[in-house]
Amino acid sequence: MNYDTDNIFAKILRGEIPSDKVYEDDYALAFNDITPQAPVHVLVIPKGEYISFDDFSATGSVEEISGFYQAVQKVAAQLKLQDDGYRVISNMGANAHQEVMHYHLHILAGCDLGRMIKSGLAE
Ligand code: 5GP
Repeated sequence: MNYDTDNIFAKILRGEIPSDKVYEDDYALAFNDITPQAPVHVLVIPKGEYISFDDFSATGSVEEISGFYQAVQKVAAQLKLQDDGYRVISNMGANAHQEVMHYHLHILAGCDLGRMIKSGLAE
């Protein structure tokens, strides 16, 4: 699969579509999810053209990868999420229902998030 420069997050990065920005630096942009699944639901995306966690981890530079993950922590710190905790999720590919083909992490917080996934999937 090739990176589609017309995906929605690419358009947000280029400023063609508005977003509710939470944080930005050289490596990452963070903004509120348009359909929040928790009181805090922030998406963090790298500035580079990467399709997924798999693509970013395999082909991103060390600088991009370290800068991106440090940005994720900065977002959590800026929102003061450390004390009560938060969840970081990345959906990769079809089984995980990845919808937007620009790599992103979800930061979820602000309430008890329950178990990691619905029970019974291993049966
Ligand atoms: P995925 O399933 O790919 O991991 O999640 C994509 C996320 O992007 C979803 O939670 C969805 O609500 C969010 N999303 C889709 N389009 C937009 C948009 O235009 N703006 C924002 N802020 N979030 C979006």
